[in-house]
Amino acid sequence: MSDVDKNKGEKKVKKTSIPRTPIPEQSPKERAKNFEEVALGYTRDQALIEASRCLQCKKPKCVAGCPVGIDIPAFIQALADDDPAAAIAKLKETTSFPAVCGRVCPQEDQCEKLCILGRKHEPVAIGRLERYAADREAQNGEGARPEKAPKKGKHVGVVGSGPAGVTAAGELAKMGYGVTIYEALHKPGGVLVYGIPEFRLPKTIVQRECEYVESLGVEIKLDYVIGRTMTIDQMLENGHDAVFLANGAGLPSFLNIPGENFNGVYSANEFLTRANLMKAYRFPDYDTPIKVGKRVAVIGGGNVAMDAARTALRLGAEVHLIYRRSMEELPARKEEVHHAQEEGIEFHLLTNPVRIKGDQDGWVEEIEVIKMELGEPDAGGRRRPIPIEGSETMIPIDTVIVAVGTRANPLLTKSTKGLELNKWGNIVADEHTLQTSKEGVFAGGDIVTGAATVILAMGAGKIAARSIGRYLQGQPLLTPEEEEELKAAAEKAGVAAR
Ligand code: FAD
Ligand code: SF4
Repeated sequence: MSDVDKNKGEKKVKKTSIPRTPIPEQSPKERAKNFEEVALGYTRDQALIEASRCLQCKKPKCVAGCPVGIDIPAFIQALADDDPAAAIAKLKETTSFPAVCGRVCPQEDQCEKLCILGRKHEPVAIGRLERYAADREAQNGEGARPEKAPKKGKHVGVVGSGPAGVTAAGELAKMGYGVTIYEALHKPGGVLVYGIPEFRLPKTIVQRECEYVESLGVEIKLDYVIGRTMTIDQMLENGHDAVFLANGAGLPSFLNIPGENFNGVYSANEFLTRANLMKAYRFPDYDTPIKVGKRVAVIGGGNVAMDAARTALRLGAEVHLIYRRSMEELPARKEEVHHAQEEGIEFHLLTNPVRIKGDQDGWVEEIEVIKMELGEPDAGGRRRPIPIEGSETMIPIDTVIVAVGTRANPLLTKSTKGLELNKWGNIVADEHTLQTSKEGVFAGGDIVTGAATVILAMGAGKIAARSIGRYLQGQPLLTPEEEEELKAAAEKAGVAAR
């Protein structure tokens, strides 16, 4: 009998006196040498205790913090009742990938940030509980399959198999539409497979979610580059009644400093793709090694930079993370920064690269950096980093990984007439319906918003599916009630409706 079961019936403990339950993790020393998941997940007892901390607020603030509006108190109550099946059913009403979101969503800036318990105490560990519910479902075998609607005789083409594309495809299949996803890479999942490393998100989980969508009748065509193998116009001419563009924003940005073309300089996207998708970390089991050398510099301070740094560390390198602002402005999740520090990544804050020096064979040898200080806030509200003249130093290095952001890849949009783009090359889509300027074409996820989050991409997939369903039925994309709601919200905010 577990401790929780033994304690049942004993005097009630005040919820606010129970501390937030830590999640078991591999020790930093051990995990720095392997690619297995860092966090191990709650046991049943831990989940019961953590779920019991929820106040079951009458007006729960946490829900407003969730981009897809999960009924958080309801799924936590089911866990407190030791009914993970009911919890997962509740979660799946609103999120398609709870095992993914429970692991990678920035809950500290979303639901947990608004948790009422968190005002005076530590917030409920909503993300960890979501993960627990999803993992219990996986352990117990097949999850519930939703009823499929009768076939509607229409077909939708989805470009990209990241969270936006897969979510939309699943929703459309459930509505009774035929759906084909076209994916440029040889595995489905988007950033979830090629970007986020195994030690944060095991690939079996992503595979399971993609297989679930396939079991709903969705066809996934791999190694299929839309804009090359087939254009969007050809998709519309050849059997697709509507198209959803969910091709992400995977084109890397560079620093534009001298020496960036030396051998040994990678974009974080290339580095992570080689390590994750091409399985370089499992060389020689996989015949696709990657050369990192002894000392690696990672440039940037976001989640992508942390993932690249921690991957390089696990491949055996000493890693130097170079970021031009201070710890306060560092955009990566606090948990990832903490993990990176624990594992031994050396942070060079208020430091900016100036040039990369190579040897006579064209390989990276050193990186020159300059110290920075923070000046007045810029247009985005963050204090502007200013170089301190004369503070330049050289750091000997074998590899440089540039993780300073990504943009929309123009390959698909350039080959498509009539598709409006913004000044950054992202597709312009109506924020409430995701309809683009091209008839029958919808777009969502990172390709519209620029690099964002998994949950926002999933939310876009849901909106797109709803709009495409209505479009294919010849209905208005927004119901009169939705139009009214938007009008009222806009009036309240003092702006024109749309
Ligand atoms: P993507 O996931 O980028 O998927 C787009 C898919 O379209 C890709 O598979 C691509 O190959 C395919 N494609 C592109 N062009 C074509 C074409 N022409 N034809 C066919 N297919 C095409 N978010 C979080 O919430 N938490 C995190 O911890 C987090 N960590 C991240 C770590 C890394 C390293 C990266 C890169 C991103 C991270 N993000 C994180 C961001 C998050 O992963 C993205 O916001 C999200 O994946 C966007 O989903 P999407 O479906 O729009 O696009
Ligand atoms: Fe529970 Fe916090 Fe949500 Fe209240 S705000 S219902 S305590 S998770």
